[in-house]
Amino acid sequence: MQYFSTNRKSSPANFKTAVLRGQPSDKGLYFPEQIPKVSWQSIRHKSREEIAFSILKLYTGDAFDDRTLFEICKATVNFNFPLVQINKNIFTLELFHGATLAFKDVGARFMSRCLKHLIRGASKKTIVIVATSGDTGGAVASGFYGVEGIEVAILYPKGKVSKIQELQLTTLGKNITAIEIPGTFDECQILAKTALVDKEIRQNFFVTSANSINIARWLPQQLYYFYALQKWEEKSQPIICVPSGNFGNACAGILAHVSGLPSKKIIAATNSNDMVPRYIRHGKLEPKESVSTISNAMDVGNPSNFTRILEIFKHDANEMKNVLEAESVSDEATMQTIREVYKDFGYTLDPHGAVGYRVLADYLENHPTEKGFFLETAHPVKFDAVGKIIGKRIETPASVSNLFDREKSVIEMKADYGKLKEFLLYELTSQT
Ligand SMILES: *Cc1c(COP(=O)(O)O)cnc(C)c1O
Repeated sequence: MQYFSTNRKSSPANFKTAVLRGQPSDKGLYFPEQIPKVSWQSIRHKSREEIAFSILKLYTGDAFDDRTLFEICKATVNFNFPLVQINKNIFTLELFHGATLAFKDVGARFMSRCLKHLIRGASKKTIVIVATSGDTGGAVASGFYGVEGIEVAILYPKGKVSKIQELQLTTLGKNITAIEIPGTFDECQILAKTALVDKEIRQNFFVTSANSINIARWLPQQLYYFYALQKWEEKSQPIICVPSGNFGNACAGILAHVSGLPSKKIIAATNSNDMVPRYIRHGKLEPKESVSTISNAMDVGNPSNFTRILEIFKHDANEMKNVLEAESVSDEATMQTIREVYKDFGYTLDPHGAVGYRVLADYLENHPTEKGFFLETAHPVKFDAVGKIIGKRIETPASVSNLFDREKSVIEMKADYGKLKEFLLYELTSQT
């Protein structure tokens, strides 16, 4: 499988090159030259690992021998993806049973294990640098923890991530370095992006990000849509609602749909960062500065994966509308939804899942014969607001309760690129 750049100025790359580069030099995104067909009938009774292998083999080509790819897949999907019924026509696909209680565990685990094999014997060390508003960082830290040959630097805005998120970033140690910036997520993002294209750093290291721009983070996200369909027992095909920020998840769902997933429609649900709902309504692409919301992992003004979605539908807005809808939800409605769903059905939503629930419930109100599920993208305990909204303390799952006993280690750094560069060049890789 070859990957071309959506900007079409850089040359196509195979899986290995695309993963190591992360982003093509023309600033497009890598996209598969053809979308493979998946035969649902031939995989629907297989195990999680086998499904992961069958699908990802189509995308990785000869990058790994079959045994290696199978081992990578096994390590990637080492947790459950339950489909839970909330009421008569709404189900939720819980993606928060992994190491850091977020769906990003899937992509981070796959990418780290791919990189480990792909950089074998390389002359340079690899630096993974990532900016986080909370959730990405934890999944990346956990996914890359202890992976040989890779140093990870995670930038996060001081005081703007939740308690559990901060512990997930700062208590691992080893090859994971947490860097706290007194500033905003956007400032962290600019620092990370500057480092990624810094010539001097690139001469000395492989540098890559671990966000959904990278195909190894993005592609495995299609798997859990297939796992959900294995458990779907309703007569009609499901409407699938995806809480979306950078649209990596939604785009992976569309990829699954187009390649053979028996689903009816994908609906993207956003908070008030609503570039895509506006596009679907008016056909105009108008990015905006991001605004802060309580579903902060989706505070993205200009979703980078939307260019991949345009590519899937060959830039035909009508083709797109047959498969994809998009709606936005205010913070007020999000909080109201968390309160109501807890009261009426005893289910605790996280703010991101709540955006998904709201959009799906409104859709089904107008389409009463349909049923569907939305993705619960993270565990509610990670967001301090939820306990306050439902007026009840949320129990910490056993898998993360040990975080509270661990030693925190963090580097404080001003939002100054010179400082970060010096640190990456001279300190990060000499620590371990
Ligand atoms: C990252 C994230 C999202 C948004 O996913 P995208 O793939 O960027 O659209 C939604 N919810 C949570 C909890 C997240 O961490």
